[in-house]
Amino acid sequence: MNPQINTTDFNERPFIAIWEVTQACDLACVHCRASAQPDRNPEELSTDEGKRLIDQIAALQVPVFVLTGGDPIKRPDLFELIEYARSVGVRVSLTPSATPLLTRDVVVRLKEAGLARLAVSMDGASAETHDAFRGMSGSFARTLDAVRWANEIGLPVQINTTFSRRNINEIDAIVGLMEKLKITLWSVFFLVPTGRGKLNDLLSAEEFESVFAKIYRLSRTASFDIKTTEAQHYRRYLLQQRVAERKSEQSLTRSTNGQSMRSGGRHEVSMMARDSSLSLTKEKYFPVGFFPCRRATSESKGWPKSIANPRSFGIYATPRS
Ligand code: SF4
Repeated sequence: MNPQINTTDFNERPFIAIWEVTQACDLACVHCRASAQPDRNPEELSTDEGKRLIDQIAALQVPVFVLTGGDPIKRPDLFELIEYARSVGVRVSLTPSATPLLTRDVVVRLKEAGLARLAVSMDGASAETHDAFRGMSGSFARTLDAVRWANEIGLPVQINTTFSRRNINEIDAIVGLMEKLKITLWSVFFLVPTGRGKLNDLLSAEEFESVFAKIYRLSRTASFDIKTTEAQHYRRYLLQQRVAERKSEQSLTRSTNGQSMRSGGRHEVSMMARDSSLSLTKEKYFPVGFFPCRRATSESKGWPKSIANPRSFGIYATPRS
């Protein structure tokens, strides 16, 4: 578990800030929240605006800063932004899409630029399932390649998996795959029907519980951390398990604000208020990942102030050039 998880005051800053650097992506995932498209949005932040954003992340001392998209590799200034972040002391993770743009050379260059962690998506235990999810054949093989390349050069790897009705039947095989791969974190998302995500693909209450049970069991033995997103009720599940197991009160440790719980295994329980997404254009922002809002018009309401009060669900605004 990241040691800063229990020392970060979430009233002062989120644990993770996520910048969606571009809307461009060559995949066509069935659940894409960003409604990604092949070309970049002309309203995306410029390189200079991005650096000013990174300056503010540095000033706020957010423990984890994620560059995502779309596919961040579609931005030609990606390496420059990562190098800049490193120069001002910001730790960067990246979520590239598994397309032909993601090559071994790119992974090596990312590490040289200062990338701290590579996060790739895996939504099935087979090429058939994963590639159908991602809308491109070869994406599953490319994902495994990326994990291997990162392992070879000592770059920590995170796997992101989104569970929905489309892959719930493969959960045991996916868990088995996670146990075989050399990863630092398995980040488990639960589909939210927004963007291209469909209501019909949402898990039922019973299916949520069955995924929770498997995550919980895995967490007792896994060599990697597990983080959930859009599963606030996993905290309730953890509590029930602890009670059922008649463990002592000392085995249940609350984080300083009660938003993270750790039991005997390797858990990180994600809450919306712990994450803050800064989305793709100069005009539109996401106080949390799934609620798009128009930006605040007053420059005096700069987003760092809002992000510092994540529970307010304030509207973030970045400076204009
Ligand atoms: S890789 Fe990400 S950004 Fe690209 S289509 Fe899939 S979900 Fe959307």
